[in-house]
Amino acid sequence: MSPEVYGGRAKCLQRLIRLDMPVPLTVALSFDCVRDIAKGRMPDLSPVIAPFGFAPLLSVRPSSLDPDWGGPGAILNIGMNHERHEALALTAGERAATSLYLRFIQSYAVQVARLDPDPFDLPAEPNRATLKAMLDAYENETDEPFPQDPATQLAEVLRSMARAWDGTTARLLRQAKGAPADAGLGLVVQAMALGVGRGESGSGVIQFVDSETGEPRITGRYLGQSQGREALRDRRDAIPLTRAEGSPSLEEVAPFALRELLAHGTTGRERLREEMQMEFTLENGRLCILDSVRVPRSPRAAIRIAVSLAQDGVIPREEAVMRVEPGSLSSLLHRQVDPTAPRDRIVTGIAASPGAASGRIVLAAADAQAFAARGEPCILVRRETTPEDIRGMHAASAVLTVRGGVTSHAAVIGRGLGLPCVVGASHLEIDRRRRAIIAPGGRIFHEGDIITVDGTAGEVLAGEAPTLDAALDDSFRTLLSWADEFRDVGVRANADTPQDARIARDFDAQGIGLCRTEHMFFEGERIGMMREMIFAEGAQARRAVLDRLLPMQRADFAALFRIMAGQPVCIRLFDPPLHEFLPSDRQSLRDLAEGLSRPLSDVEARVEALREYNPMLGLRGVRLGITVPEIYEMQARAIFEAAVLAGRDGEPVVPEVMIPLVSAKREVELVKARVDAVASAVRAETGVAFAYRLGVMVETPRAALRAAEIAQHSAFLSFGTNDLTQMTYGLSRDDAGRFLGSYVEQGVYEEDPFHTLDLDGVGELLRIGASRGRQGRPDVTLAICGEHAGTRRAIEFCRREGFDYVSCSPYRVPIARLSAAQVSL
Ligand code: PEP
Ligand code: MG
Repeated sequence: MSPEVYGGRAKCLQRLIRLDMPVPLTVALSFDCVRDIAKGRMPDLSPVIAPFGFAPLLSVRPSSLDPDWGGPGAILNIGMNHERHEALALTAGERAATSLYLRFIQSYAVQVARLDPDPFDLPAEPNRATLKAMLDAYENETDEPFPQDPATQLAEVLRSMARAWDGTTARLLRQAKGAPADAGLGLVVQAMALGVGRGESGSGVIQFVDSETGEPRITGRYLGQSQGREALRDRRDAIPLTRAEGSPSLEEVAPFALRELLAHGTTGRERLREEMQMEFTLENGRLCILDSVRVPRSPRAAIRIAVSLAQDGVIPREEAVMRVEPGSLSSLLHRQVDPTAPRDRIVTGIAASPGAASGRIVLAAADAQAFAARGEPCILVRRETTPEDIRGMHAASAVLTVRGGVTSHAAVIGRGLGLPCVVGASHLEIDRRRRAIIAPGGRIFHEGDIITVDGTAGEVLAGEAPTLDAALDDSFRTLLSWADEFRDVGVRANADTPQDARIARDFDAQGIGLCRTEHMFFEGERIGMMREMIFAEGAQARRAVLDRLLPMQRADFAALFRIMAGQPVCIRLFDPPLHEFLPSDRQSLRDLAEGLSRPLSDVEARVEALREYNPMLGLRGVRLGITVPEIYEMQARAIFEAAVLAGRDGEPVVPEVMIPLVSAKREVELVKARVDAVASAVRAETGVAFAYRLGVMVETPRAALRAAEIAQHSAFLSFGTNDLTQMTYGLSRDDAGRFLGSYVEQGVYEEDPFHTLDLDGVGELLRIGASRGRQGRPDVTLAICGEHAGTRRAIEFCRREGFDYVSCSPYRVPIARLSAAQVSL
């Protein structure tokens, strides 16, 4: 019986029967049969009913391919009518028989006849009077007596369940969970085990692991005189399964049943190769197993279960690796809002960096630093962030911006710092005058008020929401070590600071694939020196300022090399336009003029001169390296001196130097000549014959097209898919968030291309770049380091095209390692 034809539940029941478990007689209807029923072509039901014998009571349950896709609720006690009621009253007792009849009328009225549920609430006392009242209610609502023919009842139940599957809501819900548009529904018809009647009768649910942690633990409930999953719904009267203080338990009420269940649990785990949750019934002391589904599980439990099944030899390690959804790891790497807690949602935006944090609202980076200095957690709320905000972001517990998309500054830095971040909360207004934020519906939150940013869900909540800790346990590490055995795509981290590098190491990244050095120039006194450098007249004066920055950069790089202990570290030379280092408001300009001892008008003129209409396509990246070469020379020197220093007391370092925003071979030749010259000088000064690798960041379409000649001077090509997407589409990565939603809604783009790698357009440039790069230099190393790099789509692409590694933000490293294994298996 294939699950593709009959569904997962039918398949599972067949296996339970083969394992000799006490499953009541079961008949499965295929997807095709159910499709026919939905279209009004009811098959002859006599072969379905015949095996059940005379006057059976039946249940029908849904059986789709994947149980997570949902389906219509089970309907029990089909076949109850006046005659069966009288007969059952004699065998099971009057009260039990009436109770079963009432339950059936209720579910038939609500689920099959689709009547208003109110008149069909189950009465407190099941007796002939309440039964008559419910039968009358049915007749009043439908103008027909309650159907007495079991075959008619069954046909109507099957028809209603088949049609419910085709309803719009059901369809949308399951498609959201990944079901294909034509997903089928099977139905399982089963003889009822009564659970209501004489002797020890009742029903319950049992599982052998904890759904939250995945640890072995018998959990579940049992409820006497009940059916189906009532024991889970009616928690007040249901009793635990094993001995517990202050309550009777199934272990005492029916010890034999618990023993049998434990034995079936062990068999089920080994033979079904899964932790199952079983639905069982005791009918006058006799145990029946009605159904079995995968234990519902948190991401943490999913890992623990997969690892322990593999450690016990039940499944191979490869399968354990395949069973865990990589994206689900992110909830373990970060603090999360407790999913069971109430949520007072203020506004939603784009989930840019996962995790949750609460703190007081601050509207300026400087205030965030002040809060941090007092040890008070705060949330930095900005229209958008700029490099000037970096210190404030460092200091904040989370970041919220009104504008921007997944590759906006706030999002990139948030992910890099492991800071929960919601961007593009466009319905939020910042009212600077009132020093407040105004949420949809006019709710006002002032500076100092506490909010919670849920960067996993992309939501902002009022007040301090309860959160759960990150949980990196042994199972997590074991699973990832297995993933590493199976993958053939390397995973490095984008790391700018020692803190990033430590996280990268801790998550077993195979080096740093991108260190964005510009962030280092915003720290402490450095921004002042940068400004001095920008205002310096001529190369000589610039060099003098850069000489003061050199020891700081050297220390930055030495720290990274030491932490990475011999792993490759790829340092990208300075990239942003210089104007990002200059203040924009008048007061700061005045302060700057004072600091530089220059007239304000001079400062304003210089700022004006650096202004560009289109700075992202202006004087930045290698263009600065060519026109203001002193900056790259200083950085190259800092890198090489740091490599010598770190290599002296630790593993030898072979630094990688990367040139950003290249579009012409000559750019590489010029920079390479200068960097080589610096390397020779440092070798001569230190007497250490270190090696280094020079590479190019392919971020412009032209660099991809001309990769053959560019690669002649490059040991590696690292594709920066953020800029490459921006330039391929001609779409500003900082502004597109404003209208991309409407584009995706109208189907112009399938997805936000800054989020989901565009395999057609950008992908074609990547393929061209890779193949031409290899033509120019057969052993060239190929990598992707844009924000897409941590996604399964990009990793799959990299593997298919023979790239060597991806480099993603440190917190995505474990996810990328698991994805890389899954695409390799
Ligand atoms: C890129 O453009 O893909 C990249 C990694 O560089 P940045 O995001 O710093 O521009
Ligand atoms: Mg870039």
